[in-house]
Amino acid sequence: KASETGPFPFDNSYARLPANFYARVEPTPVAEPWLIKLNRSLAEELGLDVEALEREGAAIFSGNKVPAGAEPIAMAYAGHQFGTFVPQLGDGRAILLGEVTDCNGKRRDIQLKGSGQTPYSRRGDGRAALGPVLREYIVSEAMHALGIPTTRALAASVTGQPVYREEILPGAVFTRVAASHIRVGTFQFFAARGDIESVRTLADYVIDRHYPELKDDERPYFALFKAVAARQAELIARWLHVGFIHGVMNTDNMTISGETIDFGPCAFMDAYDPKKVFSSIDQFGRYAYANQPAIGQWNLARLAETLVTLFDAAADTAVNLANEVLTDYGPIFQSHWLEGMRRKIGLATAEDGDLDLVQSLLTLMHKGNADFTLTFRRLADSAEDERADARLATLFEGSGELSPWLKDWRRRLERETQSPGERAAAMRAVNPAFIPRNHRVEQAIEAAIQGADFSLFEALLAVTAKPYEDQPQHAFFAEPPKPGEEVLQTFCGT
Ligand code: AMP
Ligand code: MG
Ligand code: MG
Repeated sequence: KASETGPFPFDNSYARLPANFYARVEPTPVAEPWLIKLNRSLAEELGLDVEALEREGAAIFSGNKVPAGAEPIAMAYAGHQFGTFVPQLGDGRAILLGEVTDCNGKRRDIQLKGSGQTPYSRRGDGRAALGPVLREYIVSEAMHALGIPTTRALAASVTGQPVYREEILPGAVFTRVAASHIRVGTFQFFAARGDIESVRTLADYVIDRHYPELKDDERPYFALFKAVAARQAELIARWLHVGFIHGVMNTDNMTISGETIDFGPCAFMDAYDPKKVFSSIDQFGRYAYANQPAIGQWNLARLAETLVTLFDAAADTAVNLANEVLTDYGPIFQSHWLEGMRRKIGLATAEDGDLDLVQSLLTLMHKGNADFTLTFRRLADSAEDERADARLATLFEGSGELSPWLKDWRRRLERETQSPGERAAAMRAVNPAFIPRNHRVEQAIEAAIQGADFSLFEALLAVTAKPYEDQPQHAFFAEPPKPGEEVLQTFCGT
């Protein structure tokens, strides 16, 4: 279908918005492009011509060949970075090629990241290094396989050109697919300029694209704010359920669609620690694991500030409406979180004491430095057979403390009707065996950089594509880091 017009049946809408929403800019060609990886199944889902992409992928996914129908633009946005407002950020190294409609009728953005400078590059080179490109590929695809809303990886390519960071690194381009790339910071860009008409235009566009059911609402812009808050509350709860730490939850890195975006210094934690931070630049733990729900609320307050004048209400009423949503965000988050935690420990019904039961397990995990992922995965074995308790207990430093908890847990399970086998299966469907462990991600990146060896990258992609299957032959990827293997810090995606 797409072949006569090129591999992408583009149908672009953002490029139809007013000229102050973006800058038209072409990718900058590179020396020696080579395609590392094409995500064939995603390409098919998007209705792309996969054979044509296999042939021309190196040129297209490096920015050397702009495919027919593309209307390359860099999007304008602002944002709070670590709490400080920057009125102009924008796509400094990303270029939106255009949009396609996927096989489910959903509009999706196709964006090159690392494809050269744009009017928003400031002092940056517009480029990406191979490491962060592979990290984003692995982690975003793993998030998708875990069932968490996220941007996707369509392709990764190397440019044949070096990028200059603290060291000289191979350059690469990442091709990202998103429901859209509209962020809280996109609204802030116009609001900061007092350009309320552009805020309204953007809000109308967003409602049309992401929240069409709100079009006929009495107060559509208020309904939009409320809906975005609901999606973020659920999204962040789901991050916590898998031990994900985003690492840089600036307002420009929070989507309006409710997808996870910007996998810079992100990481999954191994041992459970609510204060865990990986990012080298997050000195004060602003974006620590357990701080993420509160930061979500803070970011939503910034979104409210851009929309409140459009709430179709007197100023004080509008502010009250916004505050109600921000207040309700807490309990909405909490109920998603608790619901998910109940499922993680095998509860199909709800009782008042469940929160305490969950909390006391987490406290034990923290004290015992227990691996977050493996604790819940092995708890499924214990749900089926008490003999598995011993293996579960080996995850905890300092013995003995887990048994009283297991006793309480089993007493609680007696009030459930599921059979042990059903319960264990339900637990394995929500507690992954595989996450992209940080030390394995780093190894895969090292092998790619040092020896152009992508086998570990491929292997990691393959196991994390089926996170809820045991795959005993791949224990290598399930194991937590041994002492000395642990990755202590991650660096911003530059
Ligand atoms: P991030 O920390 O990834 O959310 O990026 C923050 C801002 O810096 C965005 O406006 C990016 O486009 C911009 N940026 C990051 N790296 C580069 C780079 N190498 N060249 C130009 N702009 C960049
Ligand atoms: Mg960003
Ligand atoms: Mg980034």
